[in-house]
Amino acid sequence: MKTLPMFLNGEWIEAGDGATREIFNPSNNQMLAVVTDGGELETEFAIAHARRAFDEGPWPQMRAPERAGYLFKLADLIEKNADALAKIETRNSGKPLREAKFDVADATGCFRYYAGLVTKPLGQTYEVSDPVIQAMVVREPVGVCGQIIPWNYPLLMAAWKLAPGLAAGNCCILKPAETTPLTAIELFKLIAEAGFPPGAAQLVLGSGSTAGYALAASMDVDKIAFTGGTATGRKIMTAATGNIKKVTLELGGKSPCIVFADADFEVALEYAMFAIFAGQGEVCSAGSRLILDKKIADKFLARLAEASAGIVVGDGLDPKTEMGPLITPAHMEKVLGYIEAGRSEGAETICGGHRLTDGALAAGNFIAPTIFVKTQPEMKIVREEIFGPVLAVQLFASEEEAVSLANDTIYGLAAGVFTSDSGKGLRVLKKLRAGITWLNTYHPTFNEAPWGGYKQSGIGRELGTFGLDAYLETKQININLAPARLGWFRSAG
Ligand code: NAP
Ligand code: MG
Repeated sequence: MKTLPMFLNGEWIEAGDGATREIFNPSNNQMLAVVTDGGELETEFAIAHARRAFDEGPWPQMRAPERAGYLFKLADLIEKNADALAKIETRNSGKPLREAKFDVADATGCFRYYAGLVTKPLGQTYEVSDPVIQAMVVREPVGVCGQIIPWNYPLLMAAWKLAPGLAAGNCCILKPAETTPLTAIELFKLIAEAGFPPGAAQLVLGSGSTAGYALAASMDVDKIAFTGGTATGRKIMTAATGNIKKVTLELGGKSPCIVFADADFEVALEYAMFAIFAGQGEVCSAGSRLILDKKIADKFLARLAEASAGIVVGDGLDPKTEMGPLITPAHMEKVLGYIEAGRSEGAETICGGHRLTDGALAAGNFIAPTIFVKTQPEMKIVREEIFGPVLAVQLFASEEEAVSLANDTIYGLAAGVFTSDSGKGLRVLKKLRAGITWLNTYHPTFNEAPWGGYKQSGIGRELGTFGLDAYLETKQININLAPARLGWFRSAG
């Protein structure tokens, strides 16, 4: 099998020491590809080329409409290759093909959105008290940006990082998760085809502790943008202090989905399932805590358990599949460990709670959709991000109790509320300490809308105008329209 290379300074290159990494399909744990495995050396090489490309150009000096042209071209190429990209994403990440297709479409839209946005007015002018000063603010790229992404949305996360970073004129170095580099490699083939100048966008393949850490710690990287676990986010933030890097972090969550008794029963039921079981629960914004009105609990949970047990779990390429496998055997074991912890702490499953090993499923990393009731707020399954198809149900008797349960977490990424009383819905959403909120829906994500969390779910926002802002420096310019002697120092004449 040919080793897939990384993309450094416009060339396809393998690691100097010949190290490689095998890439697997989580549906059957068969090998899909062999990729080169870079480390600190290759990352330093990429940083040096990004530094030169930023300091000498042409990418940052290019006018915004011209940079936008490259992004539009890339979006067209992604669209042209959408089917192939979606299939590769499904094979490598396990997610059902219908989800992978959404991701590819969203990635295309993200490049188009930022190509459009960067040509719209940026900056400010304002009047100051000094009548001869013309004052303005201009926005400029931050510089060399290290972008580290996780395995749950490999292509989409690459787009969320590269689209605003490149649109703003930065030189970007992307490091995908070690388990899911395949769509990133395809994306960089398209970046090469679109003809971006060398050093504008580079792809480093390697592990987090070597290649990723080198990006976070380098004195020549101006900004680090990270999506992944909170523990890693903490390490990256610490490593970034050396040169006071700009840091944006999109971390984990333990997001509540609150269902009031007056909600449309069928709508709330399906969204409660979608909130946790879409993407096998390997979603940072997953609705992993169902905060449910006691008044409807018996009926709702009976239906929820029945419907969740009916979810078709399997290989993502099978069109019947509604939920796929977990990313690796190790991650599956971690999730099974949480299920064990839930039981030993006294919670009870009303659905799932085990690995699926029937027939072909035995070869993959499949866990049944799992729902825990009889939970207590201090249980691990209620407090910690599991990142798998495991839902913890918490019951409430009043609006105040619903809000207080929902906010009782170190995280603050997302939250959903279901009620037919829109006043109550808005009132509750405004009390929730979370950055992404939904009323009578869960999970829709828009390129136009800022994405990110309160509390330990992160720092800063991606997407929307906020996402471009995070890749821009801010410079004030003051111009003296009538230069005249200041008369401050008598010795100056
Ligand atoms: P992770 O370790 O946080 O990985 C995310 C990215 O950071 C990967 O590219 C990883 O590289 C890299 N990385 C790891 N250690 C690093 C370091 N010291 N310095 C710089 N970069 C580093 O996440 P994971 O191991 O894939 O999963 C761990 C947990 O994170 C999950 O169980 C879940 O709770 C959470 N998670 C959250 C999200 C989210 O969207 N918020 C996404 C994925 C995972 P490697 O791939 O080489 O390790
Ligand atoms: Mg890791």
